[in-house]
Amino acid sequence: MSDTPRKPGFETQMIHAGGMPDPSTGARSTPIYQTTAYVFDDVDHAASLFNLQTYGYIYSRLTNPTVSVLEERIATLEGARGAICCASGHAAQMLAFFGFMEPGAEFVASKKLYGGSITQFGLTFKKFGWNAIFVDPEDPENFRKAITPNCKAVFCESLSNPGGVITDLEPVAKIAHEAGVPFIVDNTMASPYLCRPIEWGADLVVHSTTKFLSGHGNAMGGAVVDSGKFDWGQNDKFKSMTEPEPAYHGLRFYETFGDLAYTVAGHAIGLRDLGATMAPLNAFLTITGIETLSLRMERHVKNAQTVAEYLEAHPAVSWVSYAGLPSSPYHHLAKKYLPKGAGSVFTFGLKGGFDAGVRLVESVDLLSHLANVGDTRSLIIHPASTTHRQLDEAQQIAAGAGPDVVRLSIGLETVDDIIADIEKGLSAASTR
Ligand SMILES: *Cc1c(COP(=O)(O)O)cnc(C)c1O
Repeated sequence: MSDTPRKPGFETQMIHAGGMPDPSTGARSTPIYQTTAYVFDDVDHAASLFNLQTYGYIYSRLTNPTVSVLEERIATLEGARGAICCASGHAAQMLAFFGFMEPGAEFVASKKLYGGSITQFGLTFKKFGWNAIFVDPEDPENFRKAITPNCKAVFCESLSNPGGVITDLEPVAKIAHEAGVPFIVDNTMASPYLCRPIEWGADLVVHSTTKFLSGHGNAMGGAVVDSGKFDWGQNDKFKSMTEPEPAYHGLRFYETFGDLAYTVAGHAIGLRDLGATMAPLNAFLTITGIETLSLRMERHVKNAQTVAEYLEAHPAVSWVSYAGLPSSPYHHLAKKYLPKGAGSVFTFGLKGGFDAGVRLVESVDLLSHLANVGDTRSLIIHPASTTHRQLDEAQQIAAGAGPDVVRLSIGLETVDDIIADIEKGLSAASTR
């Protein structure tokens, strides 16, 4: 018998990390702390909380015990130092950049991103004076070529929504680090069960927990996950982490909190001032969802693989972009970065183009026509007429959402039922 404590496995961490029986009641599942504020012991206790000298709860815009359990659970599953949970995936992206961006600063991002992220980065972030430079992630060197002295981060999705594109994380991480900036990876489509970006060099990971982490299509949420490994003091690019913070009596976050600095600042400044807080009920639902993450992901991947193979052989289908298929140009990257499977969200092309896409989504019954992914239910959408309609056709094609493209998020139903429903829809789509 060895004395080294066992490191718990991923499935054990899904169920236990960050949680413990409630100390006052013994409640085994994490209670929903539906409270706005927390009583101080006395004035000195209050002062030390406000000065960030003691950990504790003040006001639920900043921290809440139910949300804290979720933060520790997600951080553990990603192999990270800390996490900041917030209202949505988009809130997570805003908070992630807010931690170190300034007006006039730039970051380099893959152009194969979720359509909403392209709009958020390319249009809305401009109002903060943050400039996103989009590059084709196909060749990691494209990221290097776009980095300027004013660049403060590099961003991509591990497995992109919707195109099934996989970015070669390891060389992109190296390029970011050579430029002295953090590498941020959106790991929403993979979940930490399928891909662990920090092991490949990511410094920060963002999630829309709305998708596979909560997993049941019933709770909005986001998370910014910090590896704790990035050196914010290596150059003078990250002043909000290294210079005195006027709102906290001149405290320097990086000097004071070290590898927890980004996480502490994310709550003490990011959530405090942007206010994009996660509701405790949504944290509870997400904690419950994560308890079955591995079981759900295994079935999601198995069903998706079966449906992708069926579609690839179908005469009405011109192509299928699923990294689990040997025909995918990303198959070798999937084997490296997502060895347990390439997720369950993918796209395929209809020979009948835009009109066939519209007829297909209107002819299915079991599959729900809606704008979400990562539900237990199978979902279908025609991006060009919905999620990506704000983009022009060139941007749509660049994002893998051209007029003939249909996106599926394969759920956990009996796979023969999913295929029968798609078959019915495809025959309706090919008869005028
Ligand atoms: C859905 C999604 C987002 C945005 O998350 P919300 O929770 O909808 O705000 C960001 N990135 C990816 C990859 C997504 O799928």
